[in-house]
Amino acid sequence: MLPREGISIQEGYHSPQVDVEIRLNTNESPEGPNEGFLEAVYEEIKALSWNRYPDRRARLLSKAIADFHNLEPENVFVANGSNEVLQTILLAYGGHKRRAAIFEPTYLLHSHICNLTSTNVIAFPRGEDFLIQKSVLGDLFQAKPEIIFICSPNNPTGRVEDREIIEEIVANAPGLVIVDEAYGQFSPFSAADLLTSHKSLLVVKTYSKTWALAGLRLGYVLCDKEIADVLWEVALPYHLDSFKQIAGRVALGAAAQMDERVKRLIGEREIISERLTSLGFDVVPSQANFILFGSTTLDAKYLWNELLLRNVLVRDVTSFPKIGNKLRVTVGSHGENQSFLNALTDIVAASN
Ligand code: PMP
Repeated sequence: MLPREGISIQEGYHSPQVDVEIRLNTNESPEGPNEGFLEAVYEEIKALSWNRYPDRRARLLSKAIADFHNLEPENVFVANGSNEVLQTILLAYGGHKRRAAIFEPTYLLHSHICNLTSTNVIAFPRGEDFLIQKSVLGDLFQAKPEIIFICSPNNPTGRVEDREIIEEIVANAPGLVIVDEAYGQFSPFSAADLLTSHKSLLVVKTYSKTWALAGLRLGYVLCDKEIADVLWEVALPYHLDSFKQIAGRVALGAAAQMDERVKRLIGEREIISERLTSLGFDVVPSQANFILFGSTTLDAKYLWNELLLRNVLVRDVTSFPKIGNKLRVTVGSHGENQSFLNALTDIVAASN
């Protein structure tokens, strides 16, 4: 029996999980969570009634997240990673005969989840600088999509959209606007500032990147109370386990350490960008914890393989729509970044 039409995985979506020393392919934090995190979580889980189902609305976690963003707990929906948050939104608001707009190139999972939920995708091109262009907004609004996806900073380009363009889209959208801020800590502003004035805005966040908790699988959306209510209804009962509800709340206590981590990563990102440029690569200016780069003379797939032979795994994004001959590298620890740069220097030298 064949699966339902449209649910096949898009080429290039899953990054290969290869056993290599230097893994710079999935934009995780190179550092683990802060000291004391595990002990604090352990103290709380000792007192947990493990025989009981978890709190179905994750009230304590939702309150902690809401406090962190100066909102009300009712403005929060939490799920197992921001991918599941996005899927829940599409289950509720996408579907047959509904359309979602995306700006390519962008995070592949947005269109993948649309396909899974039978939501039609309307793709608009970005400009040469990989930013959303004002000139496409007329067509965008005229198409009247039920959902508009914005990803800022955008994966895999690392570009942050202009605040004015986000404001214009949110102010004029005929339906919902989802702003995916998985890398939001690297952006100078958050679309969450617009939530109080725009009921159709949803801002999606994750613990997987800068909070250094990809293994926890936790993400959330900040949105209007009525939308959050719908999402809690659409999610399966007890979808968020008790452990996660505790760990997610405890993690938020380490905001200062997270800010420090962001500063360190930005410093490392600038070192990598400069070295890549001096090696002759085209570097897309990044405001995230990863860098998109390419070469006019070296084939990206060849580079990817050569890096792998030197124990460095980066992301081959050549199959992403509208990306071309480019690779994406995650900013890792200083040592990992140096290994990556040394391997690349070696490859460039060998090909001259
Ligand atoms: N959004 C974007 C833009 C991402 O890059 C990612 C991770 N690759 C996610 C969402 C999903 O993150 P998670 O499900 O781990 O929260």
